[in-house]
Amino acid sequence: MLQGRVWVLDGGLASTLEQGGISVDGDPLWSARLLYTDPDAIKKVHASFLDSGAQIITTSSYQASIPGFRQHLGITEEAAVDLITLSVALAREAVSEHVANCGTEGAVSNFLYGAHQFLVAGSVGPYGACQADGSEYSGQYVNNLSTTDLIDWHRPRVAALVGAGVDVLAIETIPAAKEALAILELLAEFPSIKAWVTFSCKDGHHTNYGDRFSEAVKKCYEKGSDQLIAVGVNCSPPQHLSSLLREANASPPSPEVLPRVVYPNSGEEWVAGKGWEGRGSQWSYVDQVVEWRKLGASIIGGCCRLGPSDIKAIASVMSSCV
Ligand SMILES: [Zn+2]
Repeated sequence: MLQGRVWVLDGGLASTLEQGGISVDGDPLWSARLLYTDPDAIKKVHASFLDSGAQIITTSSYQASIPGFRQHLGITEEAAVDLITLSVALAREAVSEHVANCGTEGAVSNFLYGAHQFLVAGSVGPYGACQADGSEYSGQYVNNLSTTDLIDWHRPRVAALVGAGVDVLAIETIPAAKEALAILELLAEFPSIKAWVTFSCKDGHHTNYGDRFSEAVKKCYEKGSDQLIAVGVNCSPPQHLSSLLREANASPPSPEVLPRVVYPNSGEEWVAGKGWEGRGSQWSYVDQVVEWRKLGASIIGGCCRLGPSDIKAIASVMSSCV
């Protein structure tokens, strides 16, 4: 599905909503609440990323869960599943409208990367992201949950996303190898779906939980069989990515066998009383895209605090180094 091609992924949904004046910070459902209150706002963000050159649009289901929707919206299980289905429909509609607006000529000239011009990726965030306690950044909860617990927790959303017809699952911001492996085990129940796995990493060698990154990649490759189409890093500071890619490349599977996907955050940190600090200039960030490409990354985009203008810059670099 992805081999031999280069893809531009979209950027951070919540931070782009914020730029548009919609704050989701502190909401236990984060941007997933907008599926209920303002789905058009989500579609507009998808459209802005498509206009910026993104070819893969990620659904707004990162913090969507059936229990979370039931608890925080007071809706039925069926209605909660419908909201996850809606997240896929919004991404699909944004793609269709973008293609229609570009016209056939535009669509063909944009047709750089093979049979699928655009993909809709169903976001599967970690268990911790739906606990609204920041635990997705440490992943310590995997010590208290069995593989079966994790599989049972992830099953309803995966089923809803697959049922709604996503092209691929983005199993993303995963802090611990144990959780990634549990989700890959779950995928055997949905044999037609493909997926990528990206870990959140705390330095140039380890996942946020503390697994050695190269070991996590290797284990995913062994568990995922032909359903795993790429592996990598997201929602991590950009300065760690080259080291992580080098480490993964030092042992099998190589990027030719299993493509790499990277979509870092901006590297900023929230400093109380001061706001976001520590972002380098955009050009120092974009320069790294060339390096990540050389290290085998074939899907590159942005996560938190990287918006449409960043994706436009990435797309420009990507198109010149295909
Ligand atoms: Zn992020």
